[in-house]
Amino acid sequence: MNRKQKIMLLRIILAAVLMALLHFIPSSGILRFILYLVPYLIVGYDILRKAVRGIIRGQVFDECFLMAVATVGAIALALYEKSSDYTEAIAVMLFYQIGELFQSYAVGKSRKNITELMDIRPDYANIERDGGLEKIDPDDVSIGSIIVVQPGEKVPIDGIVTEGSSSLNTSALTGESMPRNIETGDEIISGSINMTGVLKIRTTKEFGESTVSKILDLVENASSRKSKSEDFISKFARVYTPAVCIGALLLALLPPFISIVMGSPAGWETWIYRALTFLVISCPCALVISIPLSFFAGIGGASKAGILVKGSNYLETLSKTKTVVFDKTGTLTKGVFEVNGIHHGRIPDAAIIEYAALAESASSHPIARSLIDEYGKPIERDRVKNIREISGSGIIAEVDGHVTACGNDKLMRTLGIEYIPCHSTGTIIHVALDGEYTGHIVISDTVKPHAAEAVKALRNSGIRNIVMLTGDDAKVAERVASSLKIDTVYSNLLPSDKVSKVEELLGSEGKSKLAFVGDGINDAPVLSRADIGIAMGAMGSDAAIEAADVVLMDDDPMKIPKAINISRKCLKIVYENIVFAIGIKILCLILGAMGIANMWLAIFADVGVMIIAVLNAIRALFVRKL
Ligand code: ADP
Ligand code: MG
Repeated sequence: MNRKQKIMLLRIILAAVLMALLHFIPSSGILRFILYLVPYLIVGYDILRKAVRGIIRGQVFDECFLMAVATVGAIALALYEKSSDYTEAIAVMLFYQIGELFQSYAVGKSRKNITELMDIRPDYANIERDGGLEKIDPDDVSIGSIIVVQPGEKVPIDGIVTEGSSSLNTSALTGESMPRNIETGDEIISGSINMTGVLKIRTTKEFGESTVSKILDLVENASSRKSKSEDFISKFARVYTPAVCIGALLLALLPPFISIVMGSPAGWETWIYRALTFLVISCPCALVISIPLSFFAGIGGASKAGILVKGSNYLETLSKTKTVVFDKTGTLTKGVFEVNGIHHGRIPDAAIIEYAALAESASSHPIARSLIDEYGKPIERDRVKNIREISGSGIIAEVDGHVTACGNDKLMRTLGIEYIPCHSTGTIIHVALDGEYTGHIVISDTVKPHAAEAVKALRNSGIRNIVMLTGDDAKVAERVASSLKIDTVYSNLLPSDKVSKVEELLGSEGKSKLAFVGDGINDAPVLSRADIGIAMGAMGSDAAIEAADVVLMDDDPMKIPKAINISRKCLKIVYENIVFAIGIKILCLILGAMGIANMWLAIFADVGVMIIAVLNAIRALFVRKL
């Protein structure tokens, strides 16, 4: 509890004790009124002040206004009736404040919970200086510096390990509890915790551009993107409060007026009391607080599982997803190709690999990485010039002065180079030098271990349509699709074809939503075109973090059904709260208008509904292990 909350608690206790004492002290008349005014003001003075301020500012209709009018009205009525029963007004204020205190405590608690989950912000970076370690602000570390990370410390900045080996705990980022081993030469991503060995890291990014900063930005901004349900609630509150005020006014005036016309006694007291009760009942706090809190908790729970959702609107859309479209390479497959063979070589095999690897040296495509690995020697960048990457086709570059073309059938056809088609299954990379065909490299990729399971889990949770798109050729595509039991496949697509395919599928969707899952390499346009773009394995890939709406921190396909289940659970909680809160409200309003509910019941209903709704909202924070 913070200081403000403690003071509130003290005020509540003090007022309650005073009220109980006054109950046993006989008093009457004006003295009694003044005595009772003390606990009332102790517990409610800030509400009265806010109500007056609201009226002055012209923003009349808020909860404070409702509470102020209802309680002041009840006191005035007691004075007028000479009943001297002021406890009701004090109790209403008291319970309202208990509700407010609980709510601020719950919100603070869940916020703290989420920031704890996202406790990846590094406070310092160690730099070696004069034989010792110096702690400096990560913001002040320039690219290419050597930093030292000791066991138990967070990796502050992205980089490459230059010395040491260790295992990393990435659970705060990915939700994955298995430690990840890392050694000299590996890329290392900020936000993970170094567990066993001392690591020296050459930084490749500034702190502000490092993964950890990007992720924190993303999480912190998530609550600013509002969902339709939240919009609905704030619009609802805007019309609702004035509506109930008018309702209360009518309730106070109309029946007595009718009675007078009919010639019977007006019964002002009864109807004014009912109108005041009506005001207390109508307070919309449960809704106003629990809906955003549910989304907040849902986003927090998801990030605990390594699923970053950029806003509650995306959580809402995700829950309505009925079609999931996958990219193949790097999403369903590992994207780590192995060279299976080199066919029809017109120059030595080693030379073909060398040209290919050099031409690919600047590409981030998984194919490029695999060819560079196969080559195995350091890349001499000055041998390569004029690199042109043709997305979805391949690469053209000058290597040692020879124009090297390296890519699929499509690339060869556009360049007018006669190629020898390959009959083995695998991704075929043709290589040509100065327009002359020199042979092709057959590479193959393996399906990710959880891919088939993920497809099955998606089917089980009611995803009607599962589609795979790929720029690879039909044979490879068919093989992957049949091993995963995906029935709709489109192959030989350029990145722009993928966009039009997704648009086509979007057109046939109707009201349900389409999610596209990619790895962020050359599929950013599709990620942003789909209703929901999900980037996987995004740790360290800026493009993916930027383009996607949902970012999966590791590349496990099981995260997709999990993300959908989390979103559905969260939305279910949101709807439960909306229905529950509005339902109870309407019931109490009717009872209040009929004179069955008094102010006591009204305030219990209001605070009770709010507490239940908030507890329900917090459920969204807890994600079952899948
Ligand atoms: P996917 O849709 O499976 O992710 P891409 O659109 O990334 O595939 O690539 C489609 C095809 O284009 C690849 O199978 C390959 O034949 C060719 N290609 C793309 N980039 C490269 C590259 N850098 N080098 C060689 N071939 C490439
Ligand atoms: Mg791809």
